Amino acid sequence: MALSKKRVYEVARELGVPTKELIEALAEMGMPGLKAVNTVDEEEAEVIRELFEEHKGKTATAQAQKEAQPAAAAPAKEKKPKPGVPRPPVVAVLGHIDHGKTTLLDTIRKTHVTQEEVGGITQSIGAYQVEVDGRLITFIDTPGHKAFTSMRARGAQVTDIAVLVVAADDGVMAQTLEAIDHIKAAGVPMIVAINKIDKPEANVDRVMQELAQIGYTPEDWGGDTITVPVSALTGQGVQDLLEMILLVAEMEDIRGDPKGELDATVIESHMDPARGPVATVIVKNGTLKERDIVVVGTTWGRIRALYDHQGKRLKEAGPGTPVQILGLEDVPPAGERVELVKKPNQAKALVEERRRAALEQRRVARPLMTFEDLLQAAERKKLAVVLKAESVGALDAARLELGTIEAEGVDLDVLHAGVGPITESDVLLAASVEDAQPLVVGFGVKVDSKARRAADERGIPVRTYDIIYDLTQDIERAMRRLLGPEYVEVKVGEAEVLKTFDIDGVGRVAGCVVRSGKVVRGARVKVLRLGEEVFAGEIGSLKRFARDVREVQAGRECGIRIRDYDDVQVGDVLEIYTLEEVQA
Ligand code: GDP
Repeated sequence: MALSKKRVYEVARELGVPTKELIEALAEMGMPGLKAVNTVDEEEAEVIRELFEEHKGKTATAQAQKEAQPAAAAPAKEKKPKPGVPRPPVVAVLGHIDHGKTTLLDTIRKTHVTQEEVGGITQSIGAYQVEVDGRLITFIDTPGHKAFTSMRARGAQVTDIAVLVVAADDGVMAQTLEAIDHIKAAGVPMIVAINKIDKPEANVDRVMQELAQIGYTPEDWGGDTITVPVSALTGQGVQDLLEMILLVAEMEDIRGDPKGELDATVIESHMDPARGPVATVIVKNGTLKERDIVVVGTTWGRIRALYDHQGKRLKEAGPGTPVQILGLEDVPPAGERVELVKKPNQAKALVEERRRAALEQRRVARPLMTFEDLLQAAERKKLAVVLKAESVGALDAARLELGTIEAEGVDLDVLHAGVGPITESDVLLAASVEDAQPLVVGFGVKVDSKARRAADERGIPVRTYDIIYDLTQDIERAMRRLLGPEYVEVKVGEAEVLKTFDIDGVGRVAGCVVRSGKVVRGARVKVLRLGEEVFAGEIGSLKRFARDVREVQAGRECGIRIRDYDDVQVGDVLEIYTLEEVQA
């Protein structure tokens, strides 16, 4: 990049206006389509400045309004302003192993956390906040997509912006692709930090080319992907990266309302021998205060104290703030939501109820989730698949085959396709989908033990295949079954009502003789009166000589109680059916 060139956001900064506002003003002045990261030369920058001044003159009051309400002013958009005020974005760092995620997080922390209190090394609480040009950014300091997605698997979307680290000497690797899929599934904006540019063998262009090849063309090349060259080791470019994060936050209009409903999630927790259960929570909306009564999953507590990432005691924590809380009864898992309640009794009751439900679930002995269970349980019309294969060739072949499956009314969404065994992170990615039936499949690969455990815990079906045909056939079968199984009624018998008895606490029981076939407990029944169907339901109980029986054959007498029906009459004919599933 030539020295005289600068980015549009830099021009905005010189003018002292939010980039978003500058871009909107320029659009109104007949210069549309400008992006914050576009580069302009000095001449173009001058035109931008002039146009902006002109625009300011036209709408003389705009600036005053903006100062009162910084990000709410969006005259060019019809969208209603979101409630609340801009809050610090929550950022996660992802990428391939050894590409520099940890180093980047360390460098940012070292160079940008203001050391307020002297003495003592502040311990990590799982997140920290930095200040850049007077604005705050919150970083989750557990790098990698496993942490990122394990929270999402519990339904919590903590991250606002993802930073993907790609080493310039290594390029786009397997876990880079994996991370991209995880970010895509989360639907959060991504910034690519092209790292290790201090290395002689670094090749930024090659990384950009690789990104373009997989559909993420850098903005510098006319695409939409934001890239920032950095060196996590020397700190070069890190300031640019931070500014870019703030810029994206501004464009995304990330807000929180301190007075709004609490939206807070646990990102880290442990048992401290001296302080008891400790949890780090990120507040995205509302405010968490000392002495608040909270329910967190199956535990609760009254907040005894709040500490920030530097160990400083806080009275309260508002939107965008990571905070450590003390006072919970138990250690909650990461990804759990924090809910406010008014009274300890309410909290106890809620926790009690949840614990009972959890216990109940465990008691119902759950064998390993089978493919058949999946087909039974499926309620959604979309199948979201994580596909792993032993080699790139096998992966491509499997993908190609999957592409040929047609099942009307059902969508197939490949969340991630990668080479290697099925890992915990694959399962967590599948578990994080909300609008589809998840499924993890492997072609010629194994399932590692952690993945197996995670799948059992979360009820995610995992299956491996050695023959591609079996894989595609199962997926096709699964897709068809998502439409819901088809049933047909098969008549199994007929009975005639000879007498009726009204029994206290039970209802009306029909004394019948079975005329043909058999009567089966739990079967469907149609009540025919003078040849007309007057009721259709289910056989609740079936007795022969006061004994409960499963079925009664033709020629015999029995007592039938029809579930939720007390109008059966002498002379009615009961037609008995079972529902048989039509094989897809
Ligand atoms: P992670 O696995 O992604 O967290 O990677 P690390 O942060 O642990 O870094 C892996 C290795 O790359 C370490 O030896 C780092 O010192 C080195 N490294 C990280 N960033 C840079 C960089 O910008 N330049 C150079 N030269 N080395 C780096």
